[in-house]
Amino acid sequence: MNNLKNLRGTVDLLPDQLIKWQNVEKIVLEQLARASINEIRTPILEMTELFIRGIGEGTDVVSKEMYTFIDRGERSCTLRPEGTASVARALIQNGMLSNHPLQKLWYMGPMFRYERPQAGRQRQFHQLGVEFIGYDSVRSDVEIIALAWDILGKLGIKELNLEINTLGDLDDRSNFQKSFLKWLDINKDSLDLDSQNRINKNPLRILDSKNIQTKKVLENAPRLFNFLSEKSHKRYSALKRQLEVLKIPYIENFNLVRGLDYYTHTAFEITSGALGSQATVCGGGRYDDLIKQMGGPNTPAIGFAIGLERLILLAGKDFEIPRNTDIYIINQGLIAESLAMDLSRKLRNYDLLVELDLSGASFSKQFKKANKLKSRSIIVIGDDEAVKGEFFIRLFDQSSNGNEEELISFENDIKLENWINNNLLVR
Ligand code: ATP
Ligand code: MG
Repeated sequence: MNNLKNLRGTVDLLPDQLIKWQNVEKIVLEQLARASINEIRTPILEMTELFIRGIGEGTDVVSKEMYTFIDRGERSCTLRPEGTASVARALIQNGMLSNHPLQKLWYMGPMFRYERPQAGRQRQFHQLGVEFIGYDSVRSDVEIIALAWDILGKLGIKELNLEINTLGDLDDRSNFQKSFLKWLDINKDSLDLDSQNRINKNPLRILDSKNIQTKKVLENAPRLFNFLSEKSHKRYSALKRQLEVLKIPYIENFNLVRGLDYYTHTAFEITSGALGSQATVCGGGRYDDLIKQMGGPNTPAIGFAIGLERLILLAGKDFEIPRNTDIYIINQGLIAESLAMDLSRKLRNYDLLVELDLSGASFSKQFKKANKLKSRSIIVIGDDEAVKGEFFIRLFDQSSNGNEEELISFENDIKLENWINNNLLVR
């Protein structure tokens, strides 16, 4: 029989790799907490209709990337390809928009898209998303961009580019679309096939084409920017001004329209040259019309999603370092083993990383293991000590000699606590 393998485009994350994931996630979650943003968790599996309505039929995600299947109850279900539609549904369904009109939320977890797997692109990948719900001011756009920027900054990631654009409101877009469709009618033969196919489905997305020839032709197309109302213009200028005040550098990219259909006004992406051809680590924008379109109250909102695989690639080697063992407990003999177990539980209450050797191997082998782990300190319990109700504890720093061994009685919690405070908790 052939060995079983995972599905194409999915990956196992192994313990060594997860050290980096956990270290990165820790920084990210701390930063979110400091910004007073609350977590929301929605199901990974949703009704297919949610994404058709919430993302839009003409999008790549809905038209060709969804993992959709019929369940045993003959319902069409889809593994979520993104988080925003689910968050919007959950807020509407749980009546959270009338009681708490203003909410700052984050989510993190796996997303599923049937795409061609390649570097930086998987079929199951992970996103961290943030949504500011009920916020309509330019300041909320600025705050959310700054938040994304600062999360990347906290991770020490340099050489990032923030690209911004404005998509105006629905009126601006429909005015633009009329003139763009006229232009497309004349120029369609010079576009790549993919773009030609979008003319009837989702013409705005043509602006986002990666095809070089198409990009060139588009240089002469009408500009959405020129169809913005006075109000939309003012909003965009204010955004740029406030980013400048915060010293967050940006590049204007008039072709940035993003893959999802429900964006209005601000759209932004953060890219890094270090990522190669899949350069976008964060994509976001305002979606003032989504919640109403989905049947909820008229609620403006803005959000972003960071691709965690790409974020992990960008984060430096510092994050690959596991937490050091604080105390390695070397123990041998029946009485010693049971006291050692008890002691390990007590020590973990001090938020120490305690490794209890369960091998029953010789003392010298256990010493070697403690050494290999570079444990900060060791405890030694043999049956001789155990019978007297005592154990040895000492720092385990090879470079400095004269590390006094301390003999502590199992009952003497005060002495133990003092030793820990003086030797391990001072960093
Ligand atoms: P792309 O242009 O790369 O397809 P997108 O517009 O489809 O991106 P979004 O839906 O905005 O991407 O998702 C936000 C982020 O999630 C992306 O910037 C990227 O970092 C990450 N992401 C999206 N699709 C994948 C994937 N298939 N594999 C890994 N990460 C992904
Ligand atoms: Mg995509």
